[in-house]
Order: sequence, then structure tokens, then C-alpha cells
Amino acid sequence: MIRAPHIYYEKNNLMVEGVMVEKIINEVGTPAYIYSKSSFIDQLKQLKDAFKDYSAIICYSIKACHNTNIIKIFVNEGCGLDIVSGGELYRALKASVDPRKIVYSGVGKTSREITESINAGILMFNVESEQELERINRIGSSLNNKAPVSIRVNPGVDAKTHPYITTGMKENKFGIDSGKVIDIFRLASKMSNIEVCGIDVHLGSQLLNPKPYGEAMKIIAGYVKQLKDENIDIRYVDVGGGLGISYKEEQQAVSVQEYASLITESFIDIPGITFILEPGRFLTAQAGILVARVQYVKDNLYGKRFVIVDTGMHHLIRPPLYGGYHSIIPVRKKSDVRIKADVVGPICESTDFLGKKCLLEEVYQDDLLAVTDTGAYGIVLASHYNSHSLPVEVLVDGAGFKIIRQKETYEDLLYGELT
Ligand code: PLP
Repeated sequence: MIRAPHIYYEKNNLMVEGVMVEKIINEVGTPAYIYSKSSFIDQLKQLKDAFKDYSAIICYSIKACHNTNIIKIFVNEGCGLDIVSGGELYRALKASVDPRKIVYSGVGKTSREITESINAGILMFNVESEQELERINRIGSSLNNKAPVSIRVNPGVDAKTHPYITTGMKENKFGIDSGKVIDIFRLASKMSNIEVCGIDVHLGSQLLNPKPYGEAMKIIAGYVKQLKDENIDIRYVDVGGGLGISYKEEQQAVSVQEYASLITESFIDIPGITFILEPGRFLTAQAGILVARVQYVKDNLYGKRFVIVDTGMHHLIRPPLYGGYHSIIPVRKKSDVRIKADVVGPICESTDFLGKKCLLEEVYQDDLLAVTDTGAYGIVLASHYNSHSLPVEVLVDGAGFKIIRQKETYEDLLYGELT
């Protein structure tokens, strides 16, 4: 199944925008992540349109796909960025984002990361604990600066997604418990090197039901009103990311309009609010494919067929990590015959699969397969396990394409090792 309009078949050949995938692979080899620039922009446009009547900043969550070429696409379209580490701050600044559009989330910010972010002049820290708040205040004081913060609330709302990617439930490590929120805002507002400016929530990832956003926003709006009554002025409501995409035929894509209404309706009577959105997956997932070459087709004695390809869990860990599903399609359609097979990689683990019991077109050794919807949480979670190098990354723009990350060499695998 392909949802992205810019990834399609033309005369049985898989195309990304105006370019044949096979042509790209002939040039760059496999495995390869290939992205469609227009798909990124189309997804972004949906969100921009849905929030056009509101004050809102879309801060692309770069953890989803962090190649600086891709970050730049969103920055050039006017986005801010959501970051979670000093490394991501470095990437963000390399992509020439306006630092006043950077929000910094995450439970474990180090002193170095906080210092660098204050010096860069980011829009705000999404603070996740009292100790973090105290640390930011101390560092702000040593830099003679007032650090802008929002408090991340753990609203105790079930995002109804995979348990490994929920973040707003009581047992999750993220945010400040509802019972402590007002007290921590009061504390922050009295700190001399903290400027309280926002409130933040992030429910989890791959939400296909937008209702939990509405539930969380009711809670957040209640806090904003209470804080305003105490003269603690909240200008930014950061709603986090999490908007899901449909990976499977039977999954219904979220209505972006409904998502926007559920977010904004609780704030109708609260003036002066700017919404911050932190989408990752929604912007990038459908824009990417991971192309692999079949190495072997192996049948066992128990009726099982394995299609063994030159990529696997080391390049795309979503299937074994949280049961992520990706449809796997041929780069050139040749046959109407369907087979059932597990598509697996070369890694020495039984968790090394891209898909189980996949219904594929008949495949043969040396065929090319494309794993779809891999533009989010694909390359960014890749590893060098078993000393495999990372895939090349390619960006297609109309009728042209360019390599945006070259394939690693064996020498690259030893980078940083001292002998
Ligand atoms: N914001 C925060 C704080 C996150 O933790 C995440 C992902 O985990 C995101 C945004 C992006 O989420 P998604 O890719 O589901 O939109």
C-alpha cells in the first residue's frame, strides 16, 4: 500500500516523484533510503492549513528524520524545530533555523546542553522535573540570562497507541504529575533566572484517534486559566507531536481538521495563546522508502519461505521494536502471483525481520524491494550491528535527485577507534 501521492507506479516501475527508483539504485546501490521532497511539503501544508486561523508555530521534531538536508526543507518552509539533545541543537543550527523557533524537550538535559541552548537563544525549554528547573535557573544565573521555560505536564491521558510509545500516562517517565503542576509553576515564577512562558504536553506517538488531544487540552486550558489568575502568564501551549499515519490499509488516517479543532476549542476564551506543534512522523513517514536487494529466497521444510535482503533491523528497527508494520512492494512489478514470506535481513538475531507473513509478489534473487513509509524513525534508529554500514540517503525533488548522505565505507566503520 502506498499513500504518498508522490510514490507510485508508472508502467510497472516504482517512481518517486519524477524519477524511477531503479534508476536511482543503479547509481547509488542498496540498501538506500529514498525520500520525496514534495511529500514532506504536502504533509506540512495540511497542518499549516488546519491551523491557519490560529497563532501557531510548527516545530518539526527532528528525531523523526534528522538529515540536515531534510531539516532545511522544513526550515525553509517556515518551521521551527523540536530538539532533544545537544547533538540535535547542533544539527538545528547547521540547518540555519531561527533559534527563537527551537523548543527543547526531554527528561535528561545535561548542564552542557542547557548552557549551549541558552547561549543559542532558543524559544523555550520544556522542563520535565524540579531538579531540571533548578539547574536551568542556576545556569541562567551564571550566564547572566533569563531562561525561557514551559513546564511539561504529564496529564495521565491514555494515547491509545503502542505502550512503548505512550508518554502521557502516570507510569511514564515524562513530564510533571498533574498533582504537582501548579506548585512547580509557582516555584518557577519566583526564580530570578527563569522566565515562565509556556505549558507543554506530549501524549505519545502514532495516535490515530485524535480524541486524547481534546482530553489533554481541556486539562491544559484549566491550568492556563488558573495560572493567569495567579498572574503567571502562559503565552505558548505546546501540544507535542504524535499525530499518526496509516501504515496499514485498514488504518484510517487522522483528520487533521478534527485534530486542530480538538486542540484549539478549549482555548477559545483564552486570548494571547500561540500553539506550538511538534510533529515528526506525520511530516516524514510517508515520504520515505527503504530499498533493498533480495539476496536469497529460502524455503524450509515446514512450508515457510524467507526472503533474505541486504537490510534489516540494523537499518529499520520499528518492526521488532514495537511491532511496526511496513508494507513491502516490488520496485518493478513483474508478476501477479502472490507468495507469503517473512522478509528478513542478514543480522544474527531472530528479531531481524522487516515483515512477517507478508503477502508479496513472487520474488527472485537480485530483485529490488521497497519497504514503504520509512521516512520516520528509520535511519535515525539505525545501527552498525554486525559491522554493517548505514544505507545511503537520497532526496528526490521533481525530476532530479541527490545523495544527502553517502554510503559508509568499511573504513568509516572504524571511525574513532584507537589502535
Ligand atoms: N515531541 C516529543 C516531546 C516527543 O517525544 C516526540 C516523539 O517521541 C515528538 C514530539 C514527535 O512525535 P511524532 O513523531 O509521533 O510526531
